[in-house]
Amino acid sequence: MNVEVKPLPASGTLLAEPPEIARVGIVGAGQMGNGIAHVCALAGLPVMMLDVKPEALGRAMDTIAHNMDRQVNRKLITAGDKNEALARIVPTTNYPELGDADLVIEAATEKEDVKCAVYKLLTPHLKPSCMLASNTSSISITRLGAATDRPEKFIGMHFMNPVPVMKLVEVIRGIATDEPTFLAVRDLTLKLGKSPAVAEDFPAFIVNRILVPMINEAVYALYEGVGSVSGIDMSMRLGANHPMGPLELADFIGLDTCLSIMQVLYEGLSDSK
Ligand code: NAD
Repeated sequence: MNVEVKPLPASGTLLAEPPEIARVGIVGAGQMGNGIAHVCALAGLPVMMLDVKPEALGRAMDTIAHNMDRQVNRKLITAGDKNEALARIVPTTNYPELGDADLVIEAATEKEDVKCAVYKLLTPHLKPSCMLASNTSSISITRLGAATDRPEKFIGMHFMNPVPVMKLVEVIRGIATDEPTFLAVRDLTLKLGKSPAVAEDFPAFIVNRILVPMINEAVYALYEGVGSVSGIDMSMRLGANHPMGPLELADFIGLDTCLSIMQVLYEGLSDSK
């Protein structure tokens, strides 16, 4: 497990315990937001889940119930665990209802202007102590944090898809992120049963820096006629032992999200591939 803690400040003063995260808010109830609500609620945390679209909230609650049923059928959780966890999730379209949260995790659409607009609407309702994490796949945490009223309490918390299944969370500090925020988010990641990997604030961090150019190359291979869709996916499944082929994976992530990540990589690294 890659958990790295930077040294104490030169003053030598002991850092306070990381702030406790007892209540979580989530903004964006799409495939990532509902997965994050799922794992937080199963870990015993009350969750306020917000989306602009009421129908997205209905879909999210159905998805969470369905995915928890699969866990019950596999005897990973009991029916009682499922019912208690579902009761901890409150769907809402009203920002003031996130006012009690100790941490809000933003999982809105992968567009910088959308995320910044969310922060403007959200932060006036938050406690001064509330930390704010973005689940962005690629956008600079320092830049997103600077668009908020609390860059020192802002951090990247990049869950993998599907959240209830995948064990990794990339934890990304922006230039202003303070140590208590980092430690609190690292501890929460462990409490959710995930492994935190520290990534620095480079375009697309670690996983997508490597994964998305591979997906892009698979699209080039298809475009140039190197193989068919099924041939490319089967080759990477059976030839490289990937659980899913790159073209299937691109559909799973969402082509809009893949394109947004590639744009961030292109702007950040100036490499046309
Ligand atoms: P999605 O399209 O499934 O969900 C996005 C949700 O955000 C939608 O329900 C939408 O209604 C909501 N939304 C849009 N604007 C909003 C606003 N102003 N206020 C509140 N809600 C708003 O997208 P997703 O795949 O869940 O991705 C969400 C974030 O997670 C993105 O930053 C993405 O890069 C990141 N992410 C995605 C994956 C993946 O595999 N899809 C993996 C890791 C991280």
